[in-house]
Amino acid sequence: MRKNLVAGNWKMNGSLVENAALLAGVKTALAGMEAVVCVPFPYLAQAQSALAGSSIAWGAQNLSEQARGAYTGEVSASMLLDFGCRYVIVGHSERRSLYGESDEMVARKYMAAQAAGLIPILCVGELLDERDSGITERVVARQLDVVIAAAGVASLAKAVVAYEPVWAIGTGKTASPEQAQAVHAFIRGKIAALDSEVANGLVIQYGGSVKASNAAELLAQPDIDGGLIGGASLILEEFVAICKAAAK
Ligand code: PEP
Repeated sequence: MRKNLVAGNWKMNGSLVENAALLAGVKTALAGMEAVVCVPFPYLAQAQSALAGSSIAWGAQNLSEQARGAYTGEVSASMLLDFGCRYVIVGHSERRSLYGESDEMVARKYMAAQAAGLIPILCVGELLDERDSGITERVVARQLDVVIAAAGVASLAKAVVAYEPVWAIGTGKTASPEQAQAVHAFIRGKIAALDSEVANGLVIQYGGSVKASNAAELLAQPDIDGGLIGGASLILEEFVAICKAAAK
């Protein structure tokens, strides 16, 4: 039986002062419950010291595909491990669209994360014009296929997949539970065709304007196993309510 997993993606938000209150609040309100917060790199040490010993894991929002060397501005998987990260978001649509990350680069980052023992949260999802042209499944399949070709289907036993329709991220537009469920079922079915055990155990999160008010109906879908939460993860009451809805 899969357990729901909710992860917060703070994006490029926060400050030492703001984070202190948010991290302490999450730790207290979700004591004993599993959840993840993915913070900006400079705040990993703060997350580590605030959350160590609690049930809340922390992670990063990106990593380098390289292990070390002359890659100015990059951060490697082993550096994330130094700060106690368990998770790292890979292939977020903002990385793909704003920073030109190709499917192949995303696959290399996914493998770099796993090689270090981090759990990648692999984001996939279609643009609005791709949905409107009826090619959502083709896009999501391509994004997954590149990772599976590079890392193998068995690698998904140590990963999380996040379906994030790009048109729903930060826009206030949420995929309907039926729209999201259809793509989640497609993803699981595609992986099941290669390895049914991996598919059954795979946590597939939904992301895209999830809020406390719409979390329960999304999470009630059989193939939605949690959420990747952007804006609402910065609001303590919202994030806590979403995590509690996922724990029901
Ligand atoms: C995200 O950042 O991955 C995301 C889904 O953002 P939001 O919840 O704000 O749409």
